[in-house]
Parts: sequence; C-alpha cells; structure tokens
Amino acid sequence: MLGRRMVSVRVGRDRTARHNASPSEVVNRLSGRKVEKVGRHGKFLVFELDEGYTMVAHLGMSGRFAITASGEEMSPHTHFVTTLDDGSEVRFIDPRTFGFVAAYDEDEIASSGLSRLGPDAWDNPPGATELRTALEKRTAPIKALLLDQGPVAGLGNIYADEALFLAKIHPLAPGGSLDGSKLADLLSAVRQVLATAIESGGTTLNDLAYLLPDGQAGDNLDSLHVYGRDGEPCRVCSTEVQRVVVRARSTHFCPGCQADA
Ligand SMILES: [Zn+2]
Repeated sequence: MLGRRMVSVRVGRDRTARHNASPSEVVNRLSGRKVEKVGRHGKFLVFELDEGYTMVAHLGMSGRFAITASGEEMSPHTHFVTTLDDGSEVRFIDPRTFGFVAAYDEDEIASSGLSRLGPDAWDNPPGATELRTALEKRTAPIKALLLDQGPVAGLGNIYADEALFLAKIHPLAPGGSLDGSKLADLLSAVRQVLATAIESGGTTLNDLAYLLPDGQAGDNLDSLHVYGRDGEPCRVCSTEVQRVVVRARSTHFCPGCQADA
C-alpha cells in the first residue's frame, strides 16, 4: 500500500465511517490520495497521506484487512474498499462493526482517539518508572488499565491476559498497588507475549475472524497459557484456569501462578 495512490474508495456501511461527518466525507477525502507512510500506534493503524490527510483504522473486535486482486469475490461484511493504482484492492471486513476507517485532516488528527493513547507497547514501551507514575493511585484492576490503552497502548484482551499470567500478576490487582519490580516483570512479559504473537502471525481463534491480509490464519493460539482455557489445568502448576469479567471482557488467569489481588 505504501507509495500507492487510492484511485477509488467505497464505504459499504455507514457505521464503519462513524468518526467522520458522513461516509461521503471519507470517500471524498481519501479518493486520489497517495499513501506516504504506513504505521501503527497501539491498536490504531495509521496511514499518512498526501495533502495533509491521515487515514486511521481500528480492527475493533472482529475486523481485518484483506489485500486482494481487483474483482475478486467480495467476502461478506466488507465495509470499506479502496482500489490502488496498481489494480489491487485493500478491503476492510468487519462482521461485528466495532472497527472503523476514518479520514482526518491535520487539525482533527490532534484531537482524535490517537491523542489519548499511551506509549506504544511494542515500538516505544514505557520504562517501569514511567509506568509506575502512570498507574500511581489508580485503584482500577490492572487488567482494566491495560485495556484502557492510556498507561500503555497496544494490548487487547488476549495479550493483556497472557502478559499478566507471565508476570504472575493477578488481573484484579489495583494498578497502583504494583511496585517497580512487578511492573518491570509486566513490561518484559508484554514484550515476550507480543514477540511470540507477531512471530506466529497473530491469534486466529476458532471463529476465523482474524486473518492476515493474505487470508492466512495466524498460529498463536497454541502459545496461549490462559486465554480461553478456563476450566483447563494451568500448564505451569496444574491449577484450574479461572475466568472473571473485567469491564465486560472475559479475563482468564491461574489462581496458582497469579497471586491474590
Ligand atoms: Zn498456574
């Protein structure tokens, strides 16, 4: 996509364009733009375009991008399509429509969701002291604070659970109760979890919602220690993995390995 021009843009579902005034604003702003830089901050995909525009996309719970030849059969739930000047198409497929594609101008990008993100967990991770400062006096469970994306950005439900497991931190532990040494363990666990996941192409669950842009599944599922394993024995200590709900999200942990909150 880098260096390519988006010769045409279509929005198939209004909700996917909800961060703009209208779907036609997305189409008008993006059509004809050249992609000058492709990046990511936390879970936001950031495409810097010419003329001062930025396309920002978020996969939400079930979204994925596919890169296809032009004219290839459209998957169900394809809500955004751009045809590039090499004839390929970039499609956004999102069954649950929690994801979005937005087109921001220079002023809007400064007040967009991107501006509320903490340092990126992979590209620019905070140090333990910086994270300690961000979590100071926070009484919310550490799991909720990780999902919040404010203290550190980029962990979704699966990788937050896995990182807390590897760091031996209970997901309900108040963020402010964790000392520098525990947070150093957490940051190192985050690194490990993300490195493993990236190496294996990400976590495709049985619903096949997440696929790589070429349509292949990621194989990180077998690397998971606790996520989705409630009721099964912990692979480290054999204690039964438990599930609790934190901020409406399933949270998985081992009561044996992860000390009391
Ligand atoms: Zn265990």
